[in-house]
Amino acid sequence: FFVVFEGGEGAGKSTQSVKLAAWLKLRGYEAVLTREPGATDIGMRIRSLVLDSGGDSAPSPRAEALLYAADRAQHVERVVRPALERGAVVVSDRYIDSSIAYQGSGRDLGKDEVAWVSQWATGGLKPDLTVLLDVDPAQGLHRAKAGGEGDRLEQERLEFHEKVRATFLGLAAAEPKRYLVIPAGGTPDEIAAAVREAVAERLDI
Ligand code: C5P
Repeated sequence: FFVVFEGGEGAGKSTQSVKLAAWLKLRGYEAVLTREPGATDIGMRIRSLVLDSGGDSAPSPRAEALLYAADRAQHVERVVRPALERGAVVVSDRYIDSSIAYQGSGRDLGKDEVAWVSQWATGGLKPDLTVLLDVDPAQGLHRAKAGGEGDRLEQERLEFHEKVRATFLGLAAAEPKRYLVIPAGGTPDEIAAAVREAVAERLDI
């Protein structure tokens, strides 16, 4: 079973993925907590290439999209698929939708093209459940900054993050059964309870 958390900056994805994985472990599951970009050695190098290079050394939008896709290919092949094959539940902080939203929409590369690149990179592996933590970008960016996160992407214009948010919501609306959309506003514990309920229902526990 493959669960993915998606959402913009400061949406609480990392907090919620940690909570879900801990709960799954308590219930006796092997839970593999992972993230993009940067879950493998190569992925860590890609993460720093993409996020730490600014100005003239920043990757072009297409190069950026391919770097994220390379991170994802390595992640799926080395971490996600092997874990799913041995029956573990995989909980990932970000996956394909982040690329569709940030590179496809935010960077205007085209949602379909970027989705296609990721489908190729992953051999078509789709999450069983995607939890979209929906937050207003102004609020989320404020939270992310308060949390001390200073990645290059957080410096993007608000308009960029508005496009990202709208794309996430559009992807969720197109496949309501595979998504759980949780509006920001609840406490972390309330959100975690809603996530557990959706996961329990799908795992039939
Ligand atoms: O989720 P995390 O904070 O680790 O992501 C790091 C940065 O990478 C974020 O600023 C996010 O917006 C950006 N990112 C991106 N495209 C992706 C995945 C992440 O621009 N496909």
